Amino acid sequence: MLPYRIGTGYDIHKLEENRDLIIGGVKIPHEKGLLGHSDADVLIHAIIDALLGALALSDIGTIFPDTDAQFKDADSTVLLRKVCELVFSKGYKIGNIDSNIIAQAPKMMPHIPLMKEKLSEIIGIDIEQISIKAKTNEKMDAVGEKKAIEANAVVLVYREN
Ligand code: ZN
Repeated sequence: MLPYRIGTGYDIHKLEENRDLIIGGVKIPHEKGLLGHSDADVLIHAIIDALLGALALSDIGTIFPDTDAQFKDADSTVLLRKVCELVFSKGYKIGNIDSNIIAQAPKMMPHIPLMKEKLSEIIGIDIEQISIKAKTNEKMDAVGEKKAIEANAVVLVYREN
């Protein structure tokens, strides 16, 4: 078997009032936040699914079920740490992550450096191994109408022996 494996992840959450907006582990000032059982960190969820997908270990909803009260308002950075430990326990390291956040508002660009810093600390890889790109949805569909924020991610994992 090849020493490389690739995974892809996708997530979307609804924007609602009276919720904090947390993306990539960073709290972003905005009049609405993402709705979910956990803190609804859409970027981290996409990265978690990409990591799980790379090793064919099912998905975030199976590993952290939303019927389980211990994951209510869970800090997604803690979930990401657990999934990284799972990847390492299988003998794999993380090569690189490429990701997109699709949001009409607020602007993501100013927050990306801090997101990269946080993710590199959690995952234990260099900032140069993490790419986060920001896009709008050209005002189309729920994301373009500022009703939701979407993210997707691709990761490469590898083993050295
Ligand atoms: Zn999610």
